Amino acid sequence: MGFNIAIDGPAGAGKSTIAKRLANELSFLYVDTGAMYRAMALYFLRKGINPQDEQAVTGACEEVDVSLDYKNGEQCVILNGENVNGFIRTEEVGRVTSQTSVYPGVRAKLLVLQQKLAQSGDVIMDGRDIGTCVLPGAQLKIYLTASTATRAKRRYEELLKKGLPADPDQIEADIRERDYRDMHREIAPLKQAEDALLVDTSDMDIGEVVSAIRNIYEKVKEKA
Ligand code: C5P
Repeated sequence: MGFNIAIDGPAGAGKSTIAKRLANELSFLYVDTGAMYRAMALYFLRKGINPQDEQAVTGACEEVDVSLDYKNGEQCVILNGENVNGFIRTEEVGRVTSQTSVYPGVRAKLLVLQQKLAQSGDVIMDGRDIGTCVLPGAQLKIYLTASTATRAKRRYEELLKKGLPADPDQIEADIRERDYRDMHREIAPLKQAEDALLVDTSDMDIGEVVSAIRNIYEKVKEKA
């Protein structure tokens, strides 16, 4: 088995940017599990399924096939044969994702795939329940967070950069709602694993966070 790094934390803490950079520097495979949950939600949205109807969502899971492909080092999420990277990053998909990812049928489907991917070699996986449920045996677990205001500001700037409409108050309200739902759901809620290291990125830039985690990794690796 390879080396597994689990990175969990709330929306906007910088998980994917940091995990991607680390994976690149360490030559690890990067697995963004949020993208998989987003692809499932995109399917439900396109089909017009009410995200609050657990039975309908669970039933539709049987029609969904989600897999990952890597092109020039970039993770592509494949939904029933289609690369949906360009459709899953909207605020609407994010909101629906946090509603549909509470259901056991949705989670069970992706759990198997995620655990299989982690067995394939050195992997950095980010999400909400990686250290607690998906890879409880990961050799390094990081819980990445930042204040709500910081995370909302980052999202706002990201949307502006993309030329998309953005309302700062709405973004902060959405983040609070998603955090609440992710942290209070019955199955695999977002929480810091007991053996995870807490990294608060509120006053750190990306480079600082990457080198802090890298230093921790080198030390853990030395001891292993
Ligand atoms: O990380 P990202 O913002 O892309 O995740 C979108 C949503 O997917 C989260 O708000 C959460 O509800 C869900 N998710 C999850 N478990 C994971 C990763 C993401 O429930 N491991």
